[in-house]
Amino acid sequence: MVAGNWKMNKSPTEAKLFAGLLASKIGKETVMDIVVFPPAIDIPFVVDVLKDTNIGVGVQNVHPKEKGAFTGETSLLMVKDLSVEYVLVGHSERRHIFGESDEFINEKVKAVLSAGLRPVLCVGETLEEREKGLTKNVLERQIRLGLFGLEKEDVVNTVIAYEPVWAIGTGVVATPEQAEEAMAFIRSLLGELYGMETAENVRILYGGSIKPENFDALIRLKNVDGGLVGGASLKESFIELVEIAK
Ligand code: PEP
Repeated sequence: MVAGNWKMNKSPTEAKLFAGLLASKIGKETVMDIVVFPPAIDIPFVVDVLKDTNIGVGVQNVHPKEKGAFTGETSLLMVKDLSVEYVLVGHSERRHIFGESDEFINEKVKAVLSAGLRPVLCVGETLEEREKGLTKNVLERQIRLGLFGLEKEDVVNTVIAYEPVWAIGTGVVATPEQAEEAMAFIRSLLGELYGMETAENVRILYGGSIKPENFDALIRLKNVDGGLVGGASLKESFIELVEIAK
């Protein structure tokens, strides 16, 4: 799976143009799932441009409640109406800039699954946590609490993205050894919690400063099932990343 998180970039006009480029270059891809996560306001336009392609569309954030007095928020009922398939949950920018807790993230994961969509649960340690030797503790806490109360069938519909916070948007990518160590740990934790068969069926993505120059070494790792890409998903480099993943 190769997923592109556009974050707060691209107006509807720019999004339509870029989605058109993706449709023409990688729209017929069948060997992997390709998903883009545009800003919510762009989604109707992007869905329309990508409707006859194999490129899926996800949303970067939702509120777990169905509707009501939550000014500025987007509900799952709204995004479902637009054929959105995936929802990013627990992205480090939501955790660290907007103060989302593991408990709130768990509420969102459950709401996404109950709505019949697939959450992409993002987890990852800060530089300070890594330097203190706390990486595995942080990953374990974020996964245990993020997936709390889920059945095995729900877990296989959840994608996990390992995104070390120090690698997001910094240009500093995890080494293949660092990525594999963390992702093997995530796989074995999932095995402990839900059984190895379930764990093998969960897709685990690496995210953090992926570029065409570093993706090949990461995508080959045993426990890496794809990439979640920020900056490099805004340009033609996203097309190159899909070619590399092939
Ligand atoms: C992200 O935002 O999920 C991300 C991985 O960003 P970048 O690729 O820019 O580091």
